[in-house]
Amino acid sequence: MALVVQKYGGTSVGSIERIRNVARRVAKTYDDGNDVMVVVSAMAGETNKLVALAGEMCEFPSEREYDVLVSTGEQVSIALLSMCLQSMGYKAKSYVGFQIPMVTDNAFSKARIKRIEDKKIREDLKNGTIIVVAGFQGIDEEGNITTLGRGGSDTSAVAMAAGLKADVCEIFTDVDGVYTTDPRIVPEASKLEKISYDEMLEMASLGSKVLQIRSVEFAKKYGVVIHVRSSFNDNPGTLVTKEDAEMETVLVSGISYNKDEAKISVLRVPDKPGIASQLFTPLSHANITVDMIIQNVSNEGFTDLTFTVPKADFKKALKIVEETAKEIGAGSVICDDKIAKVSIIGVGMRSHSGVASKMFQVLAQEGINIQMISTSEIKVSCVIDAKYTELSVRVLHEAFGLSKKDVKAG
Ligand code: ADP
Ligand code: ASP
Ligand code: MG
Repeated sequence: MALVVQKYGGTSVGSIERIRNVARRVAKTYDDGNDVMVVVSAMAGETNKLVALAGEMCEFPSEREYDVLVSTGEQVSIALLSMCLQSMGYKAKSYVGFQIPMVTDNAFSKARIKRIEDKKIREDLKNGTIIVVAGFQGIDEEGNITTLGRGGSDTSAVAMAAGLKADVCEIFTDVDGVYTTDPRIVPEASKLEKISYDEMLEMASLGSKVLQIRSVEFAKKYGVVIHVRSSFNDNPGTLVTKEDAEMETVLVSGISYNKDEAKISVLRVPDKPGIASQLFTPLSHANITVDMIIQNVSNEGFTDLTFTVPKADFKKALKIVEETAKEIGAGSVICDDKIAKVSIIGVGMRSHSGVASKMFQVLAQEGINIQMISTSEIKVSCVIDAKYTELSVRVLHEAFGLSKKDVKAG
């Protein structure tokens, strides 16, 4: 008997009728002779509503209470799905994070899973119960409710699959799989049959929200093969798995974009040892992740530093940076939250040159100015004005021959 972990995202459980559809799929998997564990998200739009409520209440809500609030959406969907399964004659039981317990660290709103105490779940599975787990949430060692960051139900599911050594981890969403780029922006995007963990990590970290990055990190670490597929049909989806030789023959496998970052520049920073550490340490203490960093060539003992932070942390980061800038005797702090990062990704880039220059050329032809650049061996990212996001994704997708007709012809 196999153990199957299935995760259903917000759109898939977005209405009573859709929850019934999920229940039918879960029941079929169970009837096929499997043990089944289901992880569900909040109904579509619910988490956004909760986030907005917190914002209406105060500018900087308590992090603890924020997690208590935003974790509630998932509790609604697990109860509804369990009720539905029970009404169909199945044994089903819902679990919120602390009932498992899914133990995390105490980094509210971006907590990391430390361990899963699966004794109760295993007993339930043994007696034929379908387990329905609230994604996105856990509990820290002090008993506080925590959440895993937006999109975190993917990570709950993969962590469960890794912890319980599941045979299959299926992530059901509202698209058929992982595409060469967001199919909502480029309808000609092609579905990938499989993608390596490293490419998927880059795509997720560079903005492709189809999987949360931490879920891919977990999958890679524990060798969980993820099958991303649609909850609305039975088409085969995309396997996220170990790299193989075939993958290296593709130069660029995907284009990602991210509009969720903001740019901060600190001007006239005294150019001496220790300054970068003084600037970035308070941000890391505040649990703010800094992404791209550019330091200009020093001029008369001063330099300019530009970096990006998540938009969600923008106000908090700006306040901290303004204070630090004063302390270290830097000049002014300027910022821009209307930026986007566009990236091309592919393990094939390791062995090919000229990919970055082609990207720059394609953007230049459209008159799009590049504000920042960062590269790794399997990706190139450019920060541009947010208003050119869709255009740049489309022209890059076209230029690198990723649309369905090109892939078929090639
Ligand atoms: P869920 O609620 O099921 O977790 P998400 O909205 O988090 O779903 O993720 C699915 C969405 O990811 C799709 O609707 C699609 O618009 C978006 N997306 C972005 N990049 C990609 C990509 N490369 N392939 C597939 N989907 C993508
Ligand atoms: N409900 C949470 C969110 O909207 C978690 C998830 O859907 O994965 O971010
Ligand atoms: Mg998601």
